[in-house]
Amino acid sequence: MVLQRVIPNLLTWYGQNHRSLPWRDTQNPYHIWISEIILQQTRVEQGRIYYQKFIDEFPEILDLAQADEQAVLKVWQGLGYYSRARNLQKAAQTIVREMGGVFPHEYDRILSLPGIGEYTAAAIASFAFGMPFAAIDGNVKRWSSRFFGVDIPISKPAFSKMVGPLLQEVIEQTSHPDLFNQASIELGSQVCTVSQPKCEVCPLQASCYAFDKKLQNQLPVVVKKSQPQDWNLHFLAVHHHNEVFIVRRPKPGIWAGLYEFPSLTLPSHEKGFPAAWKQVLGGNLDILHIQRQVHLLSHKRIEASCWNVRWNGEEKPNFRVAGTLLFDASNALDENSELWISLNEIDRYPVHRLMQHFLTNNQHD
Ligand code: SF4
Repeated sequence: MVLQRVIPNLLTWYGQNHRSLPWRDTQNPYHIWISEIILQQTRVEQGRIYYQKFIDEFPEILDLAQADEQAVLKVWQGLGYYSRARNLQKAAQTIVREMGGVFPHEYDRILSLPGIGEYTAAAIASFAFGMPFAAIDGNVKRWSSRFFGVDIPISKPAFSKMVGPLLQEVIEQTSHPDLFNQASIELGSQVCTVSQPKCEVCPLQASCYAFDKKLQNQLPVVVKKSQPQDWNLHFLAVHHHNEVFIVRRPKPGIWAGLYEFPSLTLPSHEKGFPAAWKQVLGGNLDILHIQRQVHLLSHKRIEASCWNVRWNGEEKPNFRVAGTLLFDASNALDENSELWISLNEIDRYPVHRLMQHFLTNNQHD
């Protein structure tokens, strides 16, 4: 097969050019797994910091399994997609409960763990145990689309159906499946980049379809994502005798289990102080300042306003007023998830990135 011919070039190139990364110097499946999940969320440089924090905080699978969920979310804070952090913990608990606390050595059992898909299972199986499973992430899809000249959109299952067996055939014939996967991922990330691939230094150039036909800009075929939905979200930061009110968001749902100032969704044209709050909290309230921020998630564009207000009443305000909805129903306030805390204590609680932005900026005001 055409790829087989250039594999020695690929492995030599990797040996001479790869970046030294902490998770590449280990065969510990737990550490490799943590790094893979973190790298799905962020770039390598930031990933290093999170990886170290995570391993320092939860050095063993058992530590992660037994941790308070809030502590796990706290370490994950800022990475987004908090369900990934929760799945890490669920998987650690499964390993402890059902697998004697030992990370499984079989591909199918690795794949059965919460939050682990085919790519991650293949990466762990090959990096930790030297097993021949081709790890196909976005980097690998990009170079293989160009190399083989495949014009099926890379997000479609048909693409993986076509390219997967080709890569699998090659990895089964190499004596170093781990190095093949590392080199394949590194090539896509460092050489066969999204724009301006560095074909002049590419070890696959001699057999590359896109290089030969000058189709590097046409491949891979990428289907444009649909426009994110707009979300007009208002947060209420109520200050009362050096304390603020925060709530924990319920599960399931966006930012589940994280803390925030209570929030309210309004129609997109309503940018002023929400009428429901004005009506109920009325004259006892002074608006101190407002913070506005546009925050992008993969599927939502949030226009967020954070209203910092001072509550002048002696008693703390009552946010539950019959018939009047002060916050999104999705916040589903309950006794365990409502807290009055001093702002100095907020570091103890996991918060989402938008909330973090409000807190950080607030301190600068
Ligand atoms: S030769 Fe160019 S297009 Fe082909 S795999 Fe290498 S970097 Fe990508």
